[in-house]
Amino acid sequence: MDFKKLKFQTRQIHAGLDRHENTGSRGVAIYPTAAYRFKDCNHAARLFNLSEAGNIYTRLQNPTTSAYEERVAALYGGVGALAVSSGMAAILITVTALASEGDNIVASQFLYGGTYNQFRHTLRRLGIEIRIAGNDTPEAYESLIDSRTRAVFAESMGNPTCAVADLEAIARVAHSAGVPFVADNTFGAGGYLCNPFDWGADIIVDSATKWINGHGTAMGGIIVDSGRFDWGNGKFPCIDGPSEGYHGLNLREAFGEAAFIVKCRVDGLRDLGASPSPFDSYLMMIGLETLSLRVCHQAESTRRLAEHLRRHEKVKSVSYVGFEDHPYHALTKKYFRHGGSCVFTVELRGSVETTAKFVESLELAAHMTMIGDSITVVTHPASTTHKQLSESDLLAAGVTPTLLRISVGLEDVEDIIADFDNALSRIEI
Ligand SMILES: *Cc1c(COP(=O)(O)O)cnc(C)c1O
Repeated sequence: MDFKKLKFQTRQIHAGLDRHENTGSRGVAIYPTAAYRFKDCNHAARLFNLSEAGNIYTRLQNPTTSAYEERVAALYGGVGALAVSSGMAAILITVTALASEGDNIVASQFLYGGTYNQFRHTLRRLGIEIRIAGNDTPEAYESLIDSRTRAVFAESMGNPTCAVADLEAIARVAHSAGVPFVADNTFGAGGYLCNPFDWGADIIVDSATKWINGHGTAMGGIIVDSGRFDWGNGKFPCIDGPSEGYHGLNLREAFGEAAFIVKCRVDGLRDLGASPSPFDSYLMMIGLETLSLRVCHQAESTRRLAEHLRRHEKVKSVSYVGFEDHPYHALTKKYFRHGGSCVFTVELRGSVETTAKFVESLELAAHMTMIGDSITVVTHPASTTHKQLSESDLLAAGVTPTLLRISVGLEDVEDIIADFDNALSRIEI
């Protein structure tokens, strides 16, 4: 079926299902198997040398996971997707597929704390340099690009500041340097709020742990390939050149527009091993069926709660991209649909101590480090997700000591507002 003709809400339910599956089952089956029987030795050889697609071993491929990958690829309109065990694994596999020792990646300053650590510490130790742009203008990215740059990386909406990347401008800068633009679209909620492929991104990574799963029940990450980047420009011999791990096979010649996502599977998953559990892929499939409904509810509740808190005397400021005075309001309107964001940040009046007292006084909203969950979550980035950052890195990432990140859940927003009011009433300022 050509899913491009169908609306998002239809694709999130139908893509990845096999109508001719021989049990007649309505949904996808969970295949809890590590390995698959070969028909004969020739069949095995064809699978191993990539001349025939098929299941060998669940580290590389699993039918439940394939169905889930097909669904996500259809939602984003990509040529293919690869599911991995976490968002961090998706970023690691993507970056190491593109860059080798001595190469560099140019990245936005507004990064999730975990990404920051992977980039600044682990990848640096592997000899891949990450150059963080000094500000978010296209010129700031451009000035860091050189002949060893292999990608430009940005979060479509930064965690936790909600700074929106100027996707179109960044894609232009990356393409004029002959490198792909990789967008972490976790805040774009599986493509429902934002699809960076519409704006020139070449590769999407998404922490499926968040909105794709939507219920806080599993970890996962997904890489999606637009199929549009030209890997034949000489900068990517590991894609357009002899593959040492496959007897000199040229992935670009063998797999055409799907070369990158194939590489992530046959090298990235094979060698790094961050494969998802088939059961978790099943949970992601179920989560996706209601993605748009959940996100619409959450975006509307986010607006209500942000407006309510902005009027509260114990609140110093509310940073919500839906407010016209938000510095990223215009970019949100350009790149994000359906209400823009299900996350916003708040600074209370008072100190770090009163902020902690407020968090501990919430009864419904959970104090966790999570977003996109069906439960409303309040996070204190300075003491959790961004704890490993230095003070100057914290400020550069827009994280102040009393900042709270709020991810609005699926409860009735009236109850959440009452919970916040009650907790605010317990603090003295
Ligand atoms: C959570 C998150 C990640 C990491 O994903 P995990 O599934 O937790 O490994 C990466 N990027 C962003 C923007 C995130 O919010």
